[in-house]
This record gives sequence, structure tokens and C-alpha cells, in this order.
Amino acid sequence: MGGKTIGITAVLGAAVLVGIGVAPVPAQGYEGPDRDPVAVGGGGAVSTVDPDATEAGLEILRRGGNAVDAAVAAAAALGVTEPYSGGFGGGGYFVYYSARDDRVHTLDGRETAPAAMGEEAFLEDGEPIPFDEAVTSGLGVGAPGTPSTWEYAVREWGRTPLRRVMRPAVELAEDGFVVDETFRAQTAQNADRFADFPATAELFLPGGAPPEPGTVLRNPDLADTYRAFAVRGADVLSGRIGRDVAEAASDPPVAGDADRVVRPGLLTAADVAGYAPVERDPTHVEYRGLDVYGMAPSSSGGSTVGEALNIMEGFDPGEVGDAGVRHLMLEAGKLSFADRNAYVGDPEFSDVPLETLLSDGYAARRACGIDLDTALAAPVPAGDAAPGGGCADGPTADGGYEGSSTTHLVTADRWGNVVSYTMSIEQTGGSGITVPGRGFLLNNELTDFEFEVSDTGAGAANLPAPGKRPRSSMSPTIVLRDGEPYLALGTPGGATIITTVLQLLVDRVDRGLTLPEAMAEPRLSQRNAAQTQAEPAFFGTRAEKDLAARGHSFTEVPEIGAAVGLEFLGRGRFQAVAEAERRGGGHAAVLRPDR
Ligand code: GLU
Repeated sequence: MGGKTIGITAVLGAAVLVGIGVAPVPAQGYEGPDRDPVAVGGGGAVSTVDPDATEAGLEILRRGGNAVDAAVAAAAALGVTEPYSGGFGGGGYFVYYSARDDRVHTLDGRETAPAAMGEEAFLEDGEPIPFDEAVTSGLGVGAPGTPSTWEYAVREWGRTPLRRVMRPAVELAEDGFVVDETFRAQTAQNADRFADFPATAELFLPGGAPPEPGTVLRNPDLADTYRAFAVRGADVLSGRIGRDVAEAASDPPVAGDADRVVRPGLLTAADVAGYAPVERDPTHVEYRGLDVYGMAPSSSGGSTVGEALNIMEGFDPGEVGDAGVRHLMLEAGKLSFADRNAYVGDPEFSDVPLETLLSDGYAARRACGIDLDTALAAPVPAGDAAPGGGCADGPTADGGYEGSSTTHLVTADRWGNVVSYTMSIEQTGGSGITVPGRGFLLNNELTDFEFEVSDTGAGAANLPAPGKRPRSSMSPTIVLRDGEPYLALGTPGGATIITTVLQLLVDRVDRGLTLPEAMAEPRLSQRNAAQTQAEPAFFGTRAEKDLAARGHSFTEVPEIGAAVGLEFLGRGRFQAVAEAERRGGGHAAVLRPDR
């Protein structure tokens, strides 16, 4: 185990280089780069879904960079090797524990709606446009927040110049990375729509088909974009690159023979150039003596995970037992999701009752409907978040949408700094629109807005508006114990992000599993729906029987999330953890592995 040097030089012997537009040739005997789901040791730690990205972060740590520098280096590498999950054309949320000032800082790098986007942008003749058509359109593209997130984080909190931070990713884009089966499958799943955008097809369908595992995919256009960014920072979005982004969204570069409806977007060069990330106070709840910090709105991650934990804290795991803990986790999921859907949106645009949602008093009122033997009938109504509201119900709200894109990474350094960063372009493959000549896909994050208010009145807080950030579920989390870092974790998965982060915390803290055990547990996702989603391995277990006896019912989904995490073992040692199986497995590494 431990941080092996992987990357292009290590694997080129086994792979065949694929130039842009050249048919891929599968390499013989290539089994994919080594991946470690667990690494233990000191000096610094990085865990991501991808070996090249983990190695980029380690490289920066080795050269004296801190956790922030390493996080941005790893994220930029993910923009090359996981371009369908996040990157330059998207957004995300950066959570940073600074050892020097003993504080958690957060950066809201969520995409923003164009100045011309009104409440009814996703309606035609009063009806919402089909969701899949909104996804593959210019209309879903928000002003990218990732470039300024990277620049801001490195400038304010890093200790390495942006040029150096970006170097591993520039090299990766220039030299190429080795395609694995997950990348091939994600490309194949997108092949029809990618084929309708020549710039996307040229980049990701070399020779007209998804690249084979073992072949090398280069992205010289992205290398150029990254080089410009490395020198000028996010200011590149005020120049030609920014204009190209706006043009690709407002006049999508569709193939002449495509018969797909691709609606133009509303993004202008001014929207793109004017983007600014927002530093926000983190959400904070105390949970069984731990301090749990998360992302405040515009993400619903911190408030929903926090509220669910507060609800659970009213019960003693020793008294309710293992099955009781899981039952409570599902009940807390229902109640907190009802509130999320009713109350959370961009705080610049609506009054989010964040303090109430995160208060112990409110959690106690919400918990008053919980019965240890009988599951609540879902969907449950939202609570009454007005001051003094009782056990009484508020507006009804439905369950959250679940995606499968996005990516999370965690880093830590020898000075005690920690980063937990979730980055996204929304769907796997985002809008499908590559900015011609620039080497990156544009997001479709604006489809996270509600297209209209539901019959029950829910969703008003998350309607589109000029400059508004769509509500997210991203839940980058850092937990302190006695004022010191204890856990850092997160995951992709749309609205299941919230339930996966909740489950990881509950499994580690209440059920006493190790972090790798918690990572391997079959995942459940209860988002205020009649049925709880569960991964296949959950079915037929004792836990299923126990929960079914309390009235829970389950529906099978193939896979939930692709998490990574860190546990701080004290005395400068880390346990870095990644998925062993999900989404092809991730790669955890430490700078100085234990022998
Ligand atoms: N766009 C989603 C959100 O912000 C994330 C997408 C995903 O994880 O699949 O909640």
C-alpha cells in the first residue's frame, strides 16, 4: 500500500498513444493503474477517485505545497482524467480547515445563472421543457465557478504559486492519460450526444468511438487553457476563453446533421467574466462531542446533513441498538430532506432559516414524530421553521433528484491543514458541449434549479433568477474532535450525496465501524420518498429484515456515490481512504507510508 508514482511515464510501456482524431488501439495486457483504497502514514495525504489526480496532489505536497495547493493540483488533474465529472467549465464547494487560525473556511464556487435568466427560463408555453433536453442545451450552462475557486484558494490559503500548482495537470493534459474501463463506459454512455457536438466528438470519440481502456488520451487544448490560467488566473475568463465559453453556451456548436433539439443559452461574456466565488461561514453542528463543519447554502449539504445529525443526537445509540441507529438515520433523512426541499436555496435570493434548521431545539421538534418501532410514512411534510413553531407541519415537499456525476477529493498536509472539496459539471459529461479549441466541457448545473413550483408550493426557494446559484447537494465535510481534525470526507451522487455523507458519519461515529469499513458498507438513501434506495449487497441482510419489520421498504439501485475520506490518527499520521469498488475504485495515498 502507499503512494506509488503512477502516471504516464509509468504506464506508457503498456499503452498506445492516441492522438486527437486517431483511432484508438487497445494495449495488450494493460490492467489499469494501481489503486489503493487505503493508505496509512505521515507527511501528508491525498485521496481522489483517480490515481493520476492523487499523484498530482502528492507531487505538490512533496514540493512543499500545503493541503490547499495539493487539492487544486489534484482537482486540475481530475479536470483532465475525469472530465465528465468536473473541471474548468463547472463549479463546486471548497472546505478548508486552517491549522494556523484554527478555523474552517468555505468557498462557494457554484455556477451562477446568466443576468438574463428569469424564473420561467425552463418553461415553454407554460410547461417545463423535458429534463433531458434541458441537460443537453446551452440553457443549463451556468457561469463557471471552478477557475476562480482554484485561483482564490491558492492565492488566499496556499503557499505555492498557481503556475507550479497547475504544472502536473498541464503535463497530464499534454502527455495524456491512460483510459480505464470507467472512462470508456462513461464515454459510451454519452456517445450519442457527444457525436452531435464536433468539438466534443473530436476530443472524446477519437476515430468516432469511445477510446479503449489502455489507450492514451491527450488533450492539448486543455493544456493550453491551463497554461493560460496558470499565468493569468481566472482573469482568462475576461478574455477570449471567457468569450468562447459564452458563445458555446449561447450558440451551441452542434453538428450540421444533428437532429437533436439543443436550445441556446442566455450566458454572456459579461456573465462569465463577472463570476466571483463567495467565502461563507461553514455550517456547524455538534454531534456526540464532535464538531461537524459543512457547506452552507447555496448548497443544501451542510444544513441537511447537520439537521439529520441533530435529530439523531436525541437518541442514544447504545439504547436503540444497531438496527435502531439505521432506522433513525432513515427517519432523519426523511425529515431533513423535507426541510431541505421546502426551505433551501441561494441565500442571496431567499430567506433560508439556516439557524433554525441547524438548531437543537428545531431538531427536537422534528424528532417528536419519530417512533422507534414504526417508520414514518413518507413523504413527510416539512417542519414549521417559523420561530416558536411546534411539532406542527409545514409545506409538503417531495424527494430530491439523484445524479451520478461529480467528484470529491480530500487532502491534508504536515502542518495540519485539511481540504474537503467537491467539484462538478452536474451530469456525467455535463451539457455535452465542449468549448471549441479549449478542451473542456461546459456544465449543466442550472438544471439543479426547479423548473417550476410544485403543486404543494415547494421549490420556490430554488427557482432561477439572474445571477442566482442553483441549490446543490454537495456536502464536503470536515469533522474536528477536541479542536483537532478527525475526519474529512465527501462524495458525488446528486441528492444521494447528503445521505451518503450522513451514513459514513453514522457508521463511523455511532456504529463504530472503521472508515474503510464504513466506506464498504452497502449504502442506503432515504430522501423523503416512500421507498429507501439500497445497494444490492444490502438485500437479504439482517439489517434489511430489521428495518422491514419497522415498515421500511427498499428499492435496489446498482451503486450509490464514489466517496473519499481521511481519518486523522494523531501525531501527524493519516488514514487515507477511497472506494475499493464503486465507480472503478479510487486511489488513497500518503506521503510517507507506514512500513
Ligand atoms: N449537481 C449536483 C449537485 O450540486 C451534483 C451532481 C452529482 O453529484 O451527480 O447537487
